[in-house]
Amino acid sequence: MNEATATPALAVTYKDIAAAAKRLEGLAYATPVLTSSQADRQADASIFFKCENFQRVGAFKFRGAYNAISCLTEEQKQQGVVAFSSGNHAQGMALAARMLGVHATIVMPSNAPAMKLAATREYGAEIILYDREREDREVIAARLSDERGCAVIPAYDHRDVIAGQGTVAKELFDAVGPLDYLFVCTGGGGLLSGCAIAAAHLSPDCVVFGVEPEAGNDAQQSLRSGKIVHIPVPDTIADGAQTQHIGKLVLPILQAHVKDILTVSDDQLRTQMRFFAERMKIVVEPAGCLAAAAVMHRAIEFSGAKVGVIVSGGNVDMDLFSRSIAAAKAFSDIVAP
Ligand SMILES: *Cc1c(COP(=O)(O)O)cnc(C)c1O
Repeated sequence: MNEATATPALAVTYKDIAAAAKRLEGLAYATPVLTSSQADRQADASIFFKCENFQRVGAFKFRGAYNAISCLTEEQKQQGVVAFSSGNHAQGMALAARMLGVHATIVMPSNAPAMKLAATREYGAEIILYDREREDREVIAARLSDERGCAVIPAYDHRDVIAGQGTVAKELFDAVGPLDYLFVCTGGGGLLSGCAIAAAHLSPDCVVFGVEPEAGNDAQQSLRSGKIVHIPVPDTIADGAQTQHIGKLVLPILQAHVKDILTVSDDQLRTQMRFFAERMKIVVEPAGCLAAAAVMHRAIEFSGAKVGVIVSGGNVDMDLFSRSIAAAKAFSDIVAP
């Protein structure tokens, strides 16, 4: 292959993920890998659940946030960082910044859940509220970065963030060896792209699928069309995956290493949340159920294959949680085991 036809280099390599893993060693939790014979029977597979609901701040986002802030120069660290997020990225950034002695400003919508505002504030971040209806958070973040000279760390479209998220899959493969399939939930695609790069290196024959909410299948449309598709805010209980488009750095990685993006319905997410709570005794937020729901509803025929499932987080409002599992059908009511 000569220069002219060579495919452009991807934003992140396995080396970046290995370097991120070194930075995170002893700081991010090496989260447990759980198994369940009931889940295996349901899916006709041998499933390894990588449980990032047990990560610091309750989701994998701590990994990318910590790695990205660590990679800043000393001068940049002194200027502080800014992020805009109503969800787990806010908490991940707030905690990582505090651990690294860096000032963090988080731009959050004024109608964000009180629990998330409080948690972010408790980690020591400065919070700037904005009106979701009238103001554009990216404009606010850009103005802050101009005024204060601080670096903006986005939730997914950033190479050090993607490399940090890739350490989730690296840990899974290090723990269980090569897999036949890996299923990863998808919002902006930071977790999926990082995990796909780790899989390509550590388990080259592993087939990687992304999973997103049926109501917001922009990543599926983007991968299938080869162009980043923008959609309105999707109506789904999976708030961690309510993104309107995937990242610019993400698409080429998905094209290189991801087979397809599948979707699951909110009802399937509720069934999965209930299964996790009832059978595996774990609390998983709706977005964290995406990958598992696709596998346990037999999105493809597994025939006993070894399947990795990333469980991305466990931050769910208890009212939503109890309403969801009360309304959920059990697997035994919907599909034959
Ligand atoms: C952020 C998040 C996602 C989506 O991750 P992306 O990197 O944006 O694709 C999924 N689940 C949870 C719990 C999250 O916090």
